[in-house]
Amino acid sequence: MFTKTNKAPVKAKKSAAKKPALPNDKTGLEQAFLHYLENNLGRDLPSNPEYQLSALAYVVRDRLMQNWKKTWQTYNENPTKRAYYLSMEFLMGRSLRNNLLNLGLDHPVKEALDDLGLAYEEIEQQEIDAGLGNGGLGRLAACFVDSCATLGLPVMGYGLRYEYGMFRQMIEQGFQIEAPDHWLGHGDYPWESQRREYARIIKFGGCCHSHEDSSGHLKVHWEGYEEILAVPFDVPVPGYKNQVVNSLRLWHAEAPDAFKLSAFNAGSYFEAVAEKQAAENLTMVLYPNDSSENGKELRLRQQYFLVSASLQDVVAQWCRTKGHDFTDFAKFNVFQLNDTHPSLAVAELMRLLVDEHHLPWDQAWSITTQTMAYTNHTLLPEALEKWSRHLMARLLPRPLQIIEEINRRFLIEVACKWPGRADKIRELSLFDEHGMVRMAYLAIVGSFSVNGVAALHSELLKEGLFNDFYQLWPHKFNNKTNGVTQRRWLAACNPGLRHLITDTLGNEDWITDLSRLAALEKQVGNKAFEQAWFDIKQANKQRLADLIAREVGVQVSTDAIFDVQVKRIHEYKRQLLNALHAIHLYRQIKLGNTANWTNRVIIFGGKAAPGYAMAKTIIKLINNIAMMVNNDPEIGDKLKVVFIPNYRVSTMEVICPAADVSEQISTAGKEASGTGNMKFMMNGAITIGTLDGANVEIRESVGDDNFFLFGLRAHEVQAKLGEYYPQSYIDADADLQGVVDLLRSGHFNPLEPGLFDDVIASFMAPHDPWMTLADFRSYVAAQEQVAQAYKNQQAWVKMSIVNSARSGMFSTDRTMQQYNDEIWHLTPVNVS
Ligand SMILES: *Cc1c(COP(=O)(O)O)cnc(C)c1O
Repeated sequence: MFTKTNKAPVKAKKSAAKKPALPNDKTGLEQAFLHYLENNLGRDLPSNPEYQLSALAYVVRDRLMQNWKKTWQTYNENPTKRAYYLSMEFLMGRSLRNNLLNLGLDHPVKEALDDLGLAYEEIEQQEIDAGLGNGGLGRLAACFVDSCATLGLPVMGYGLRYEYGMFRQMIEQGFQIEAPDHWLGHGDYPWESQRREYARIIKFGGCCHSHEDSSGHLKVHWEGYEEILAVPFDVPVPGYKNQVVNSLRLWHAEAPDAFKLSAFNAGSYFEAVAEKQAAENLTMVLYPNDSSENGKELRLRQQYFLVSASLQDVVAQWCRTKGHDFTDFAKFNVFQLNDTHPSLAVAELMRLLVDEHHLPWDQAWSITTQTMAYTNHTLLPEALEKWSRHLMARLLPRPLQIIEEINRRFLIEVACKWPGRADKIRELSLFDEHGMVRMAYLAIVGSFSVNGVAALHSELLKEGLFNDFYQLWPHKFNNKTNGVTQRRWLAACNPGLRHLITDTLGNEDWITDLSRLAALEKQVGNKAFEQAWFDIKQANKQRLADLIAREVGVQVSTDAIFDVQVKRIHEYKRQLLNALHAIHLYRQIKLGNTANWTNRVIIFGGKAAPGYAMAKTIIKLINNIAMMVNNDPEIGDKLKVVFIPNYRVSTMEVICPAADVSEQISTAGKEASGTGNMKFMMNGAITIGTLDGANVEIRESVGDDNFFLFGLRAHEVQAKLGEYYPQSYIDADADLQGVVDLLRSGHFNPLEPGLFDDVIASFMAPHDPWMTLADFRSYVAAQEQVAQAYKNQQAWVKMSIVNSARSGMFSTDRTMQQYNDEIWHLTPVNVS
C-alpha cells in the first residue's frame, strides 16, 4: 500500500491533499465512534466496554493512518539517513492513552464519550498490555521509539511479534504461578497492520559449499537449508503533536507456501501441517529471562530470524532505489543493537553483502563496521551471551563461517597490537576456550560505537569487562545515559500533576522539553503550590491503595509512607535486603520500640524468571512476611507489606505517581542504569539508593539533601571480594542478629519448615556476590532518616518538588538527541 517507495512522490502528495482531514472535534469523534460500534461491530449503545474499546481504537487508528502515510511520503521525498533499532524486546504496554495524548485527542475524546454517557477511564482498562519484553531493556526500546517520533527522527524499530509475551503472574499461597499471556486476545489487535508484501525468507540448517566462479573468485553457497517465512506486522508510533508516525516492524514466523504445497503433494498431509506448526513456533513465545543468558536453540533461531529479516528488509529497500551499488550504504543506514541479542547482525550483513550482492570482503567489512552500533546493558557475567559453535554449525552454517573469518582477521590485528602475547589472543578471541562464540565481542569488533547506559556503567565497561577492546579502540567507547519518556511516564500517567505543572509553567512545553520542569523549583515555599503538590500525591496514593485493596485484599492508609520496590526479582536488585528491613521494622514494633514511629507501607512487585528458584523463593518470603505482618493487630497501620501481582507497564502507570520512596538498592556496580528510578523521580518520589547505575546521576542532579544514600561503593564491593565475612556483620549488629535469628527460627514459615534455608544460606555465604549483609546497617540507618524526614510534611514536599524539577535530563528525548548527535547523525523531518 502506501509503504511502497517506487510510487511517484508528487502523485502521492496530490492524492493526500484531496482527502479532507478527519474531524477531531467532539461531535465528529462521537459520530466516528458510533459508526464503528454500529456498522463495524454491530452493537448499540451502551454495549460492553470491550466493544467500546474496539470502536474507540478504530477511531484513533484512522487518524494515525493519515499521518503514517504522510510520514512515509515525507521520508521518501527526502531520502536521508535512517536508523534501525534492532531489539528482541519492545515492552509497549497499552497504546490507547498514549496515542490519544500524542495525537492531541485526549480531551475531545473524553468529552465525546462523556456526551454518550460513557466513562473513558473504564474503557481504557479493557486494553491488554503488549508485554513483548522482560523489563527495563524492553521498556527502554519502547521509550526510545516514542522519543524518536517526537523528535522527528527517521528511526524504525525492528522486533518480533511473539504470540505470547511476558507471562501473567499470579500469586497462590505466596508462590508465583505463571500463566500464558495471550495478549492478542481474539485476534483483533487494533494497533498493527500486516504487510505481507514485505515478507522475507529466512534460512536455517543445511551446509555450505564453495567453488570458484568464472572470474576466479571464491563463492560460497548455503545449501540444503530449511526456509521460514518472516511476515511483518507494523505498529504505528506517533510523535507528540507533530504529525510524525514512525513504524515498529514486528516479524511473525510462518511456513512458506511453496514448502506446504510440495509436502502436501507428496502425500504427507499430516507431516506438512505439523511442520507448519513447527515453523510458527519460532515466534510463539518471549523467553522470560531477564539478565541471564540461556543457551536454548529456539532462542538462537529467534535472534537470527529477527536479524536476517530486518537486514534483508533494509537491503531490499536500498536495492529498490540504488540497485547493487552499495558505495553509500553506510552514509544512509545505521543499526543500533539493543544488547548482544541482535549481534548476529554483524555476520548477517556481511553474508548479504558478500554472498548475495557479491561485494569483496574488505568493502563489505568496511560498510558493516560503519553501520553497526552496539549498546551494552549488563556487567553481570551470567548475562553475557555465548552460543556454542556446535549449535551454530548445525543451525547457521554460513553465518558461523563468516564469524570465523571475522575472528581470523581480528586476531591478526590483536597480534600486531600485542606482539608475542598469546594470552591476549586467547582472551580476545571471539571463541572462548570451550568453543563458545562470545556475542559481545562479535558486537564490539563489528561496530563503530559501543555504549553503556549510565556514566558509571560506561566507565566500568572501559576499566573492566572490555578493557582490552578499549585499549585497541578507545574511540568506539561512549556513554548514553538512559531515560524514560515523560509523555507516558508523567503526562499520561499522572494527570493531576500534569495539570498543576502546566498551570504553573503557563504552557505544556515541558511535554517535549523536560528541562523546563526546572522552573518548578521557584514554587518551593509557595504554600498553595506545595499544598496542591501534596494533595495530588495523596490522591495518587488513594488510587494505588484501591488497586492494592482490589488485587491483594489489604487495606492500606495513605497517611503512611508508600515505600516502593517494583522491578524484576533478581538477587542483584536485592529485594532480599528490603525484606530484611521489613522484618527489622516488624521486630521493632513487637519489641515496643515505636517512639517517633512513622507508619509505612512497603510495596513490592515484579516477576521472577520461571527457572530462577532463588528469585521465586524471595517472592514467597515477601508474601510470608506480609501474611504475618498484615494480620497482626499489634502491628496495625504501623507497617503493611504488600506484593502486587503481575507487575507490568500498566501497573507501573498507577504505582509510580503514588510512591513516596523509590527503592533502588542494587549492589553497587551491578545495575547498568535502571529506568524505574527515573519514572519515580519524575513523579516526585525520593530515592533511597546505592551509588549504582543512573542513581549516581540522579543524586548529582538532586543533591545529597534530596536523596537517601547508603551502602558500599562499586570499588569497595570489588575490593571486598574474597574477604567478605557475613557472620562478622551479624556479630557486630544486634538488630541484624535479631532479624536473622527470627528468620532462622521459622517464624515466617511455621507450616513450611526449611522453606527459606536456601535464602538464608545465600546471604550467609562468604561468596555472596551481592553482599547483602554488608549494607544492612547503613540501609537501616538511611531508612530511619526517611522515616524522620517524612514527619516534616513541608520539607518532604520540597524534596519531592526538587526531585521532579531536576528530572529533565532523564527524558529519552535527551537520550535520543545524544544518540543522534554522537552516533546516528540523522536529519529530523518536518511532516506538517
Ligand atoms: C520501568 C520498568 C522496568 C524497569 O525497572 P528497573 O527498576 O529499572 O529495573 C521494568 N518493568 C516495567 C514494567 C517497567 O515499567
